[in-house]
Amino acid sequence: MTYLTRTPDLVKPLARDLLWHGSRQGRSLHLTFDDGPIPEVTPWVLDRLSEHGAKATFFCVGRNAADHPAILDRIRAEGHAVGNHTWDHANGWSTTGRAYLRSVLACDAVVGSRLFRPPYGRITRGQVSALKKRFRIVMWDVLSADFDTTIDGARCVDNMVRHVRPGSIVVLHDSLKAWDRLRIALPRALEHFSREGYSFVPLGASTSGAPA
Ligand SMILES: [Zn+2]
Repeated sequence: MTYLTRTPDLVKPLARDLLWHGSRQGRSLHLTFDDGPIPEVTPWVLDRLSEHGAKATFFCVGRNAADHPAILDRIRAEGHAVGNHTWDHANGWSTTGRAYLRSVLACDAVVGSRLFRPPYGRITRGQVSALKKRFRIVMWDVLSADFDTTIDGARCVDNMVRHVRPGSIVVLHDSLKAWDRLRIALPRALEHFSREGYSFVPLGASTSGAPA
């Protein structure tokens, strides 16, 4: 598996239509949770966030949101943002433009958000063009790598502590695959960044990244 826990600066100018981080002014941190909502993990995440008065953004798979409407309602009721992560976790690089758009719109019918994150971060120029008028396309600048089954939760904390800066958008997953690491990493990250004076802020359609 190859990935970088911090997005290289060189990539960013090539993709100005995408949001990579929020404002570097102040001390906001944007935690994002992809691939839920599911009953095994998402309510636990909401409980941990609540303990710290933290607000986050949940990029929901449409199929999961349709299966678990009560959890989707709880996410919204507790002041978090929701975003679109396609209906079935579609891979933009191996899905035609038309099929990709269908998957995004099917998710939109359930999730109804102006925020969109492409699964795997894989999206083509054409797909960006088709979506950018209607959606704020959200990437990230820090990966916890909680999806990586070869590392432990402490390493995920380390990935975040090393790379987070004001305005960072951090990727976590409310998924079964990430659970072994998330259950260790999330409480520690919330403790750490609270101590550092960060506030945990949900993304909005108007969130913009000031020049770094
Ligand atoms: Zn995903």
